Formats: sequence, C-alpha cells, structure tokens
Amino acid sequence: DQQTLVRTLTSIDGRGYASYKQLGGRYTLGRFTLSVDKVQVDPYAPPSLMQISLRREDAELPADLLDDRLGRIAVSDFLTRAFADALSEGSSERSGAAAGISIGRPGQQVLERTSVVITEELITARLSVALPAAGRRALGRKAARLLTETLPRIAQAALLHSSLDPEALRSHVSLLRDQEDLRTQLEAAKLVSFLADGSMLPRRAGDSDLPLGADAVVFRSPEALRRSFTLASGRRVTGMGVPEGVTVIVGGGYHGKSTLLRAIERGVYPHIAGDGREWVITTSSAASIRAEDGRSAAGVDISAFISGLPSGVNTRSFSSSNASGSTSQATNLIEAVESGATALLIDEDTSATNFMIRDDRMRQLIPADREPITPFVDRVRALFTERGVSTVLVAGGSGAFFEVADQVIALEDYTLRDVTAQAHQIAADHKRTTSQPVTPDAAGSASDGPGQRRFTSLPARVPRRDSLHPAKKTKPARSRGPRMIQYGREDIDLTAVAQLVDPAQTEALAKALDRLAEQSDAEHDITALVGRLVHRLDTEGLDWLSPHRGHPGHLARPRPQEIHAALNRYRGLTVH
Ligand code: ADP
Ligand code: MG
Repeated sequence: DQQTLVRTLTSIDGRGYASYKQLGGRYTLGRFTLSVDKVQVDPYAPPSLMQISLRREDAELPADLLDDRLGRIAVSDFLTRAFADALSEGSSERSGAAAGISIGRPGQQVLERTSVVITEELITARLSVALPAAGRRALGRKAARLLTETLPRIAQAALLHSSLDPEALRSHVSLLRDQEDLRTQLEAAKLVSFLADGSMLPRRAGDSDLPLGADAVVFRSPEALRRSFTLASGRRVTGMGVPEGVTVIVGGGYHGKSTLLRAIERGVYPHIAGDGREWVITTSSAASIRAEDGRSAAGVDISAFISGLPSGVNTRSFSSSNASGSTSQATNLIEAVESGATALLIDEDTSATNFMIRDDRMRQLIPADREPITPFVDRVRALFTERGVSTVLVAGGSGAFFEVADQVIALEDYTLRDVTAQAHQIAADHKRTTSQPVTPDAAGSASDGPGQRRFTSLPARVPRRDSLHPAKKTKPARSRGPRMIQYGREDIDLTAVAQLVDPAQTEALAKALDRLAEQSDAEHDITALVGRLVHRLDTEGLDWLSPHRGHPGHLARPRPQEIHAALNRYRGLTVH
C-alpha cells in the first residue's frame, strides 16, 4: 500500500537509478490502485509504464453512457482528455506533465484507444512516467510525492464523475453516437460522404489540425445536393450529400478544392465538438490515393492501368523497389480496392498526370498500343460499375473527367455550386476525337471489348511467411516517429498514408504487423489476414495487439485500410 511505496522510494533516494526496479508491483492509494508494470532502467530509456485504476462504482459514471461500445469509446476519450488537461494544469513545476507523467493526448479525432479502458468492474488509466533523476541517481523522495500525491490528485480530477462536467460528458457521448449513426445511414442514402451546412473545413496551417477560426467561410450545400438526416438523439442535420459514383470537384486555384477533399478524407474519423468537421462524415473505408514514387510493391495486379511495359515487366504481378509516379499511384489504388475501400479520394495536386489523363493530341501522336498506361479517366467508371467503388476527384486543370462524372461541383471563393449540367453540355459540344466514350454508361468499357472486366477478381496475394520473419528481425516492430515503423532492418515509410492521423495509430500498426506475421500461413491472403486481425480487435479489444500483459502502451485503433497500407509498404514483403 501507500506506506510501503513511500518507504521503498525513500530508501532508494540518492541511490543508482536502477534501484527504481524495486517498484514493480501493485499499491493501494486510497480508492485507487497503482500498478507499476515496467520500470525504466536508466533516465534516458523509455519511461516507466504504470496504470492507475478505480472501481467503476466509485467513479459513479452514469451507466447509460457505458452500455454500448460507442458510449465506452466516447467516455474513454473524454476521460483521457480530462486526464491530459489535469496533467498540464497548475504552475509549471507542480503540473503532472512537467513531472513526467503522460497519457498520450488525443488530437481532433475520437479514436478507440488504450489510454483509458473501461470494463465491467474497473476504470483504468494507462500512463507513462519518467521517474525523477539527478544525473544517474534516483530522486526517491520526489518520486514518492509524484506517485502518492500528484498522481492520485490528478486521477481524482479526471476519473471521478463528481469532478467532471456532466453535461459535457453526456454531449460527448451523444455526439459520437449521432456521428456513427449518420455514418451507417450513408449507405442506404447512396452517399459516400456528408458535409453539414455550417461546417468549417479549413485548418489553421498545413501542419495544424486545428480550425482556421474567424476567417473561415462556413460550408453551405448547393441545393441540388442538399440532404437531411434525423439522428439517434433526434438531432437533425442538413448539408451536402456526395452521391456514390463519380464526383468531380472543379474551380480555380486557391478556391478551396483541396481543403474540401481533405475534409472528406478526414471524415472517416469522428471529430470532437468545435473542430468544424464534426458533421463531415465519410463512409469508413474511403481511401485517399496519391502518387508515391519510390515506394515498393509486391506482386500487385496493376494491369488495368499499366500493361505492355517496354521492359517486359509483368504488371499482373507488379513488384518494384522503386515505383514511378504512375505505377505507384496504380499500386496505391489497387491495394486500396483490395483493402475493401468503396470510395477513392484523389487530388490533382498529388497525382501523376500521366496516370490520370491523356489528351487528344497525345492520343493522336502516340498510338494506344505504344502507350502502356490506360489513364484513370478511362477506368473510373468501370471501378464503379464492376466493383461499386466510387471516386471523388479534384480536377481544376482538366475537363477530361466531365463526361465520366455523375456530378461536377464548382468552388468559387470557397462556395459550392452544382455545375453538372454545364459540364456535361461542354463535354457533348467538344466530343473527344478518339474512341473515348461520351456518356457515363458507355464509359465502363472504354477501349476494351464489351464484357472485359478488370476489377471484379483481383488475384489474391498471400505473403510469404519467411518474408514476414526475416532472420535479422530479432526485436518487435516499433514506431519511430509519427510516420515511420521499424520492422527488423527495414524502415516502413508511412509519409504518404494521408489518413493516418495519430502517432498512437502508428504504434498500433507496428504491433499489428507483428501479430500479422505470427498469424500468417501459406493459405491466407492479405485481406483475410487483416480481416482476422480486425475481428480479434473487435472481440478482444485493442489491448490484444500488445504481446505483454498489463500496460499495452499508448495505442489508437487504425482502420483496416492503414493496416494494409503499412504491410504493403514493407520493403521485405514478398508474396506467393
Ligand atoms: P485549391 O486546392 O483550390 O487550390 P486550397 O484548398 O488549397 O485551394 O485552399 C487555398 C487556401 O484557401 C488555403 O490556405 C486554405 O486554408 C484556404 N481556404 C480553403 N477553404 C477555405 C474556407 N472555406 N474559408 C477560408 N479559407 C479557406
Ligand atoms: Mg489544391
């Protein structure tokens, strides 16, 4: 209990840092239980891992907020934020954060996390604690104050219902339930995304996820696409529905096209109240696709886009350690379809032009049988008709997509207008001189014989077990920074994985790769392996990713799409 803890810490005051090791174990601190799961070996090693818990009945959280999975996720998120706030309160030297305690502060999204877990009996906060040191000596007395005074005070302020704002907690839960209710309604409404009137899409800066603030022009839906939904709480929202099919966003430079697409891309996650994007809700599997030259690829069938390379490389099973702009974008797209994405989000700013379009003059100069690339404009309809995969595309620099678009939306001074009829009229008046189809319905079979199907049965890719268990991999995979995973001797670069939003997701991805490697066999393809892993997370919780009992680290749940993306970017990957 508390006296034991104080006595132990007092006795090691001034001794070598490693004497902190004696701390391992459990202590009762009033109504809290402190569990010291892993003690850091020296002051420069990763911090110690501890958990502080209390009984659910002592926390007195209203039961109706915790009776479903979404409620528990929302309450956990709320408590994590409350804990992080309590840690940074107080004068700088008295604050818990300054004293080296961390819970992993969430960003603008509400994600399933390991930071606070709620079970039938317990509420547990997972902390990392940098135990105080002077040089290489343990400051035991200071540690005693930190663990027996500061920490329980913070836990008291963050985990007890009586110290929280009950209205704020309730609306946090209600918001997440409504957001996810809206997401489930998208499919029946045949929408890939919804953006409510009044949303604020722009961010403060390129490297900030915070809202721009007073300068932002609020979102207003064009009448032609306006939809309304009634949500679980009875709340009603009105805004723009982005229909399934092919949607093209046009407009002059700097008029807000990329900002709109970025908001749709982030809409796969629920955002906190006040973010401005809390009512931007996108179908959960939507995948952002971009060119990523230099990435590796392992046995991906990109033949729908690229075939007959002069080098003789087989694009039905395309492997490369250094893909070009167009082949990397084709690889990203096919992998996203393989991961189950039902919508693709593509911005001209980050696309390879020769992957997206080829103009009439070039089609005349270079005959089709001399051009290995079939541009996306010729395949975008087949993706939808054969496979049900929609596309939302930003194209300010080319009208090539007008005739294959179901709807065209123009942005002018950040304001939206439906220009579908005009765009279709322009396309009809300026028919392309090549064999290109004019109507969306005929476009599915562009330049192929009718009945040629390209996206219905992509070949299964079964990872080779030895490629996931390289001889030189002796340590668990781990994240190194927010967008890098070290897997054996290889660094997996996730810089281009745009919908990875939290470093704790990257940490979870590192652990997911190790679990995938353990579970791989000669039968299951990547989709099946990830599917089984996702099922384990659903049934056993995110803690399952960690091989250790107790504190699993600060993890946040990634989507299946990002698990695919991480595995697919592993340079050691080979497939059967
Ligand atoms: P585009 O892709 O059309 O060139 P961007 O989306 O990159 O344009 O936006 C250009 C600039 O305008 C960015 O700095 C962005 O933050 C800002 N912006 C975008 N949408 C809005 C808005 N609704 N209100 C205010 N500023 C905006
Ligand atoms: Mg742009």
